[in-house]
Amino acid sequence: MKICGAFCICLFFPFIQYAQETEYNHVFFDNSLMEESWFYGETSYTSPSHILNIQGRLPVNTDVAFTPGNSLHLNYRSAPEGTWKVNLKYPDWRGKDFLKEGDMLSFWLYVANETQKDNLPEIAIGLDEDKLSNFIQPGKYISDYSEKKWMQVKLPLAEFTGSEALANSNNIKIISVKQSPNDVGKNEILIDQVEIINEEKPYVELQTTKIRSAEGFERHVDLSWELEASPATRYVKIYRSHDNKNFTGIGVQSPDEFSRYVDYTGVPGKTYYYKLSSVGYDYTESPLTESTQVSTREMSDEELLDMVQEASFRYYWEGAEVNSGLALENIPGRRNMIATGASGFGIMALIVGAERGFITKDEFITRMEKIVRFVENGDRFHGALPHFMDGPTGKVEAFFGKYDDGADLVETSFFMQGLLAAEQYLSEDDPEENNLRNRISVIWKEVEWDWFKQHEDSPYLYWHWSPEHEWHINHKLIGWNETMITYFLAIASPTHGISPEMYYSGWASQDTIAKNYRSNWGQTSEGSMYANDTSYFGVPLEVGVGVGGPLFFTHYSFLGLDPMEMEDKYTNYFDTNKSIVSINYRYSLENPGNYEGYGKNSWGLTASDGPWGYKAREAKPEMDDGTIAPTGAIASFPYTPEKSMDALKHFYREYGSFLWGEYGFRDAFNLSEDWTANIFMGLNQAPMVVMIENHRSGLIWDLFMKNENVQEALKEIKKIED
Ligand code: CA
Repeated sequence: MKICGAFCICLFFPFIQYAQETEYNHVFFDNSLMEESWFYGETSYTSPSHILNIQGRLPVNTDVAFTPGNSLHLNYRSAPEGTWKVNLKYPDWRGKDFLKEGDMLSFWLYVANETQKDNLPEIAIGLDEDKLSNFIQPGKYISDYSEKKWMQVKLPLAEFTGSEALANSNNIKIISVKQSPNDVGKNEILIDQVEIINEEKPYVELQTTKIRSAEGFERHVDLSWELEASPATRYVKIYRSHDNKNFTGIGVQSPDEFSRYVDYTGVPGKTYYYKLSSVGYDYTESPLTESTQVSTREMSDEELLDMVQEASFRYYWEGAEVNSGLALENIPGRRNMIATGASGFGIMALIVGAERGFITKDEFITRMEKIVRFVENGDRFHGALPHFMDGPTGKVEAFFGKYDDGADLVETSFFMQGLLAAEQYLSEDDPEENNLRNRISVIWKEVEWDWFKQHEDSPYLYWHWSPEHEWHINHKLIGWNETMITYFLAIASPTHGISPEMYYSGWASQDTIAKNYRSNWGQTSEGSMYANDTSYFGVPLEVGVGVGGPLFFTHYSFLGLDPMEMEDKYTNYFDTNKSIVSINYRYSLENPGNYEGYGKNSWGLTASDGPWGYKAREAKPEMDDGTIAPTGAIASFPYTPEKSMDALKHFYREYGSFLWGEYGFRDAFNLSEDWTANIFMGLNQAPMVVMIENHRSGLIWDLFMKNENVQEALKEIKKIED
């Protein structure tokens, strides 16, 4: 899908010029977030040969590393009658699909015992396991071979043969390492920093970076630095000391991905000293900065909430696309492509940021000015926004396939939810705020919600429309899911509103189409008539397909729309959402899939990244693969405050070493697979900021509900009788 997005744009719209996405370094391995094993290093062997593995994956070594904090540990026994193999797979994460071209496979090798250079394991590259090149003996490419020191091994890609597709280095998705035919006996080697590089790198003198801030929290230190203009910096390297004398390298960060680093030490009340250096593409290093002193400290529950809110808020503040000021789909990921729904959630997170003092109100206003200007000038279709847009140009991006090259009404409703909350927050009677309010109001009134009925007498709204493919995707909006806010805002629109009856004919429809839609999707007839009226794990559920669906159904529509005020003839949505969260919690406690790490403080099945990609997960075995997303429990704060707080503390205190990062909690983790997400996701960080705030002060609910169109829609929906 993601490859198709970029590909199809070129194929079908050759005349539209897009700003080129910046290219990432093609890194297979620099460090593993999990300290036991590396999820992407798959081992296999036939006895009597053997390679040491943890559940089929390569162990990680934290004691000796070329780039701190770890390297890959190959501990093997080679025998002529057997063989062993490791496949290093490219962690093919969402949107990291623009890579620098290279001409060398480079890695760093540490030989821990006596191994003949010609008996080193052989190496192949490939598109996948079945499309490998020839195997090369790396020994002859190492001139200064010796044991117990790091040596760079550079294998020219031209030496690998077997597939024309490999001529494009971007296609290399697997590096295969196997027993050399001449090797006999037990050996131990470490490898680190496995990447495709370009041999031709101009030499540039490295500038030392500058520490901008260092802040201690309960169990981690957050360091940030001045962004380097120089493209010569491959990494910023972080050093830590306990005595301000002996400094040890503890980590590296790609400065083009983040300008901060989290050092999770796990201990409150300790003082540390930090220094930084810059590392070049040839791995030479600049002098170190002066040291900075910082201490961790005990924190109250309120301070922990502030900490999670601020870190997650930064995704939308410092992580935003530069031209539009809007949110990226995921970080790291595409750097130009903004996601409109996530951006709407992000606007609400920015409001929280201004209110809690993470930024000033003036900074908020300046950002809103940028956002509003971008929307005014960017692609809209009958007033509705696309799902994805190119930040530098404002053009639609068909990231989800060629037919999705127009409006997305659901994303539009997420975006408008945020924009309407911002309109209320800009409440001062001064020229700047008056101007912004007026322009937001125009954008709101320009959305032609009624156009998305497709036919005049349609009972349903439709998800997509594009000028080129019109109604080709033809996806009807039918609840229960995340699209309540879409119907709600369509009813609320003062200019292009739909009839309030469509709440029941579309969203909560009881016709055969709707019934089949729900049955197919929930794989059950429970909830297929919209009302559910079954109980699960002892919790009665009034509305919801199957067990109620992934937890984001209780978040996305209700970041602004106060579920306590939202009532129809079936239920009050605060009650229903609370039930769905309780079911999800009780399911995780019962843990029928017997997954590692589930329990009373660790729960929350929703849509997130996972070991095998992005997926919506639910509280039933066939929709559960052992992956928990912190946003599941934490964005449920208003429904389950104590349980959500317990989960927050557990995620931070027990799993912080891998789960806590630059923008708060990483997207998801799966302990059964010893996996954690590399990314933060735009759809998942803001709901934590906003729902914690709704729990604490009701701020975003109050703002959104103040809108008179919103109040009118609430009344109209309640007025409708059977
Ligand atoms: Ca490393």
